This record gives sequence, C-alpha cells and structure tokens, in this order.
Amino acid sequence: MQAPDQPNVAVSVRASSPPQASLPAQRHRFLLKTPLGIWGAAFLAGLTLALLNALAIGWVPAAPFETDVRFRHHLIDAAQQFGFAWFLAAAVASYHWVLKPAVLRRAGYTTKRWLAAWLPFVALASGLTALLSAPLTDDFREFAHRQVSVNAAPYLARAMAYACAGALALGLVLFNRWWRPGLALAAGVFALAVSVGNHTLLKHNYPGVHFLLGLTALSVLLATFKPCRFWRGSSYRWQRTLAFGLPLVCLPAFVAAPSLTLQAEQLKIDGSVVARRVTELRDWVRRSIPAEVASAANSAGNTQRTPVPSSHPGLLPERPLVVMLTIDAVRADVLEKPALARRFEALSELKRQSIYFDNARAPGSQTVTSLSGVFSGLYFSQQYWTRHPEVGHLFLGDDRPSRFPEVLQQAGIKTVTFSATYFLLNRFGIVRGFDEERFLDNPGQAFTDYSPGSQLTDQLLSAIERYGHGPAFLYAHYLDTHFPYKHGGKRGSAFERYLGAIGYVDRQLGRILRRLEQLGLLERTLIVVASDHGEAFGEHNSQFHATTLYEEQLRVPLMFRVPGLAARVVDAPVSLMDLGPTLLDLLGQTTPAHFMGQSLVPLLRGKPMTFTRPLLAEGRLKKAFYYPDGYKLIVDDKDHTAELYDLEHDPREFKNLIDEPEGRGAERLAQLRQFFEEYQIRRPGYEIPYRQ
Ligand SMILES: [Zn+2]
Repeated sequence: MQAPDQPNVAVSVRASSPPQASLPAQRHRFLLKTPLGIWGAAFLAGLTLALLNALAIGWVPAAPFETDVRFRHHLIDAAQQFGFAWFLAAAVASYHWVLKPAVLRRAGYTTKRWLAAWLPFVALASGLTALLSAPLTDDFREFAHRQVSVNAAPYLARAMAYACAGALALGLVLFNRWWRPGLALAAGVFALAVSVGNHTLLKHNYPGVHFLLGLTALSVLLATFKPCRFWRGSSYRWQRTLAFGLPLVCLPAFVAAPSLTLQAEQLKIDGSVVARRVTELRDWVRRSIPAEVASAANSAGNTQRTPVPSSHPGLLPERPLVVMLTIDAVRADVLEKPALARRFEALSELKRQSIYFDNARAPGSQTVTSLSGVFSGLYFSQQYWTRHPEVGHLFLGDDRPSRFPEVLQQAGIKTVTFSATYFLLNRFGIVRGFDEERFLDNPGQAFTDYSPGSQLTDQLLSAIERYGHGPAFLYAHYLDTHFPYKHGGKRGSAFERYLGAIGYVDRQLGRILRRLEQLGLLERTLIVVASDHGEAFGEHNSQFHATTLYEEQLRVPLMFRVPGLAARVVDAPVSLMDLGPTLLDLLGQTTPAHFMGQSLVPLLRGKPMTFTRPLLAEGRLKKAFYYPDGYKLIVDDKDHTAELYDLEHDPREFKNLIDEPEGRGAERLAQLRQFFEEYQIRRPGYEIPYRQ
C-alpha cells in the first residue's frame, strides 16, 4: 500500500518548524521504497544483532558445541533480541505518540519545546544510570581490582552507565529528530562495532556490561533503520502484524526455561547479550534448579572428621628440610607436553626425580581460594571470610581452624615463608604458623607489579643456609607467572609470554636445586612443587584464571621429591587439599580433624590407596565435584547452570551430559547440594561471600 503523503505525527507536532522539515522524508524514500516504520526498524535491528551474534559466537575460538544445541541457542538468542528490540520500539512509539504531544500541549508551542524534546532523554539517562550503577559496580569490582584499585569500581560503573545511557539517548534522538543518511550510516557502524566489541571485550563475568552494550547497539541500530516517517493508524497491515506479532513470537524465549544443557551453553558465551539477564529474570520468578532429588545423596565422601595420626615407619631422615614452592597459574599440560616441557630444564629434571601426580586438581581457580584450601584443609564455603581491616578485602584473619604450618611450628619445626604478595602473611589467615615471614614489597606499585622471583630466591637461598640443619619447612609462592607474565618477554602471544614467565621461575628453581646440591642437602631435603591453579588461553571462551572451574584452570602439576623414594608417575585423582595431610604425615605429625584432604603417603610409597574423601573445587562463582567414576559436575549457583562431563572420554569438557539419563545428573546434583549443605560453615549472621 502506498504511504500517505500528509505530514506524520513527527512533523505535525513541529508545526512551527520551517516547511523543509518534512523534506528528509521525501528525500530518503529512495533508500526504502516503503516506509519501514518503527516496528519494521525493530525487526531489522533485532535480526541484524541476532545474525551478528551468531556469527561472532561461531567465531569464538575453542568454544565447543553440538549442532543441535547451538541451533536452539541461536534461535532463543534471536527471539530475545527481537523481544528487546520490540520493547525499545514501544518506548520510542509511546514517547512520540503520547509523551511528547502531551508535554507540548501543556508547554505550548513556544520556547519550552526545547525542554519537551530533551527532558525525556535526560530522564532516560538519569534513570538508567541510577538503575544500573549497582549491578555494574559488582561487575566491575574484579576488573577494577586487577587494573587500578577496587575503589575505582563505582566510578567505572557510573562512567559505563552514563556512556550507555548516552548512547541509548543518542539512538532515540537520531530516530526522532536528526535522521540523515550519513548519520545513520555512522550510527550503524558504531552499533556494529559496539556489538563486536561486546564479544571481544571484558570476557566473562560482566553480565551487566554485556547487557548494556547489547541494548546500546540495539537502540542505535533501531535509529539507523529509521524509516522516513512514523507509522500511524492502520494503513500498514504488516506493521501492525509486527507490532502485535513480535512479542507473541518472542514470549516463549523469555518465559520458558531451556534445558540445563542449553542454559549452560547460552551463559558460557558472552555474545548471548541478553541471555544472562533474561535467565536472571526468570530465576527471580522460579528460584530453583529443576530435577533435584534431595533424598538420593549419601556418597558425598568421607567425613569421619577425626584426627589422623602419621603413618609408620617414617619416610624422611632425621632433622629433615622441606622446601615447598607454589608457582602461580601453571597448567599441568605445560610440564607434560614434551615440546613445551623441554623448555623448562629444572622443572623437568625435578619431575624426573619425583613422584609426579598427573591427575592433580586445585581446590579453586584463584590464588586465595586455592592456597587457603591447601594450608587450612578446608574448602571456600567452610572458611570464615571477613573484610580485613588493613586492606578491606575478604580474607581469613578471623578464621580459627589451624593451618598445617601451625602444627609443624608446635612440633618444634622451624617454619619460614617468603612472598611477593602481602596476603600470604600470617595475619591474613590464608597461611598461618610461620615463625619467620617476609613480604617482598614493591612499594607504590599495582597488584600485578609484584617484586621479581629472583628476590624471593635470594631470600630462600639464605634461609636454606641458615636452617639447612633442619628440621625446617621453607615455603615460597612465585607470582612471576601471573598475568601480565612479567619476565615472560615483551614479544609474542600471551601464551608465549606465559611460557617465558614459567621459564623465568624455572631458572629460579634451578638456582635452588644447585644450592641444595652444593650444600650437600639434597639427600635430606623433601622438595614439593605445585601450582595454585591453571590458566586459560581461550578454552571454554575464557582467559586467565578465577573465572571457571574447567580443567584448564584446575588441573595443576604436583610433585614430591622424597629422598630415598623411587621416582614415578601416579595417575590416581588427587587434590592439593591432600598436600597438607601428606606433609604432616611425612613429618610425623597428626593431621587435625578438620582437614578434608587425605595423606598421599601410601601412593608415595608405591602402595594402593582407597580414597574416602570427596574431591571438589570451589570458587566464588561455581562449585565442581569429581566423582570416582570419572564424571565431573560443575554447578553455577549464580547463573543456575549445571554441566556434567565424562572426563575419561571427554577430557576437554565439550559434551554436557547433564540432561542425558546415563549421566544421572539429577542424582549427582543432589549429592553436591547435600555435601555443601552438610559441610558449609554456619555462624550467626554470616553469609558465605559467593560473588553476587
Ligand atoms: Zn594464583
């Protein structure tokens, strides 16, 4: 049907405008033969973003997928995009047909028109900023902590909210008043850039940011597809069809819960701009993971919780020296792939002389959650986290259960630690029980600008000379391998620099081993080397660590060089939680009842061993449970997702079996729930600080 030529609403309310105000409408007919209308623009904007998202998601490196799951994912994604586009269109339409005429009627067609035109935009920007500052501050906290300081988070959040509210307002203004082909082209390019940026910037855990960027892109695109005139009346049947049909078609994507597999898939990928918020909305209404079988659980593992005496006969010589090193963020496969391992001479040589556990997991994917588990024997949700008065971050200053160095200290074993980070000092509670401690400060520098490992090594070497007569326990944590891979060289990919940084720490280890040999101490020294967690380089669409509980972030090297014991590789699944009980056992001490791990001494001796403890990992976002039959369950209580992998057949965690009957997902979910229900810490007024 031909478009009516009389002035539309937009023009008629601008009665005092010069007559050429309606010219653009005429001029741009050539672009789109039929006026597109606001609903048509919404449809095109939704379609463009859905296609762009699908392309970008397909392009995400190493994002595993199965065709049917991915197809349903895109379908839901597209429907949600259409839904939000429709919502924006409805906002524009009601502004234009209801709000603006009403304000103009009251204000009169005088100088106050300016106010009438701009007030809604100002209100929109302020409202959005107020509404979104809180969730954005949460989003930005970790980012701000890494980049500047945690105090910067609210400012970053506000800046982001203003920028996005501004972009939304710009989109609406463009739509309403200033539409020109050149501007529309620029806006379209801007929207596409924002959308692509959404896939590549701020990987993971920034749902508010992704949502805002998505809405911004949508809004500006909507303006780009602005028709020459607004639709009014019933002259365009297809417009009416879109206006009423779109929300009906989109509704299921907002209200129907997808399968657990699909939900996990959607939330794993940042490109699903709206999926996360929609999920939150839905879960706000229905707050539970389906298919829980609360009574099915009892095999969560050991939990006799009695002190465990050391085994006899002892393995170590009289007056032993123990040197324990943890190296930040070293993935296990770095030492297992021959092509990579040969770059690390000292680590490889030590591994050849050690009992190496090639199936070891960290109890968390972040330094603090992992090392606190190693030293206290308790998982994240079993510890008492409080804001430390000195720094304001969550630490374990008031958490009482003993750390294993405290047990050694009481037994008269000298305990000494050196650290490049402040929170490994006794008073922060992650570690405790060190007679001597030294933080090698790098004053005035950001968190990631820690002092170099060579300084740690210098300190450690002099401690070896002082306390080499034993019995002594010396510990150091190397941070050089943490992002930004300081000492890893300035050139090459992130992974290349990461390897370079491991090489740097490898040279430090070489210095330590040489000194022990020179001093004739090697035959009296137990050397333990482990990493606190792994590091991701694009696997599961993630980078660095502390973001997921997949194997690239949890599987770590763990080796014990025990004088007099033959080197071997042990493939039994073990945890760094077993490290404390093992060291206590080796040093002839009783392991306190609260330690969740189990001594690995039988395996060190080459004997078989039955595990009665559970094997799990926990972060401030997720929980993972390793089952004896090789399955691994990952639950995210924030996103309400669950994933189940058969590690034996699918070690890279590609195929989520949570909805497959043979995986017995519901039963396992119930076991996990039961475990945490039973073993989590309970104190009046205390809430486990899972990340919001
Ligand atoms: Zn770490």
